[in-house]
Amino acid sequence: MHPLMMGSLNWIEYQQRLQDEGLVVLLPCGALEQHGPHLPLGTDALLSAAVSQSVAEQVSGIVAPVFSYGYKSQPKSGGGQKFPGTTSLDGNSLIQLVRDVVRELARQGATQIVLMNGHYENQWFLTEGIDLAIRDSATASQLRVMRLEYWDFLTPDILDRVFPDGFPGFALEHAAVIETSLMAYYHPDLVRLELIPDIAAAEFPPYDMFPQPSDWVHASGVLSSAKSASREKGELMANHIADGIATAIKQEFKVSEKNQLEKQVS
Ligand code: ZN
Ligand code: MN
Repeated sequence: MHPLMMGSLNWIEYQQRLQDEGLVVLLPCGALEQHGPHLPLGTDALLSAAVSQSVAEQVSGIVAPVFSYGYKSQPKSGGGQKFPGTTSLDGNSLIQLVRDVVRELARQGATQIVLMNGHYENQWFLTEGIDLAIRDSATASQLRVMRLEYWDFLTPDILDRVFPDGFPGFALEHAAVIETSLMAYYHPDLVRLELIPDIAAAEFPPYDMFPQPSDWVHASGVLSSAKSASREKGELMANHIADGIATAIKQEFKVSEKNQLEKQVS
């Protein structure tokens, strides 16, 4: 039994955790999307789940099972839909998934819910799902939901250390230095550093085209090179991100003094 993972608890244990009014339920949101030759298709789901676990250890948190599919990959942020394995939901499907799960968690008594997004294209569909869930909920007056992209917790001082030659911006960071370093820290066995493509950063026009053009993205699926990624950078960012999110949760939510995990061992 892993006390942080909702899917590992039985209903009686979960019911006990719901008695704690400082409980925070974290809902990681990922995607099944190509991440170049060096990272697995599940990268966004794996990272949002890993960050959720790190945060859950710092607050009185439980991590709900991750959303393994996300909204359609876009060329300028995820390489687009043309790569085998990039398996995506229509926007309406993702909205309904979020709406149903948030409403269900609330119906059982969760009042503090965090949607931890790890896939850029998800964000407005998560927002809509949360909004509809609150509108649906009989307990809406007690329900509070936080939605975030974990990389927004990287502050300029950390980005300066990770990108000594200058930060190219989050848009080109798909399968690049941030995600590769975080994967090297959380899931080193799933990273193949020797396969990182050494390519120039992609350049895109200031508009989108539909159907998605097939020649905007490098054949590797990567938007900028992850050559300077490292496990050390991953550890630095992972700790900073988890601390920043835990601080935000403590600021916005009522969080128990000691988390349930500590109570159980003490
Ligand atoms: Zn990603
Ligand atoms: Mn993504």
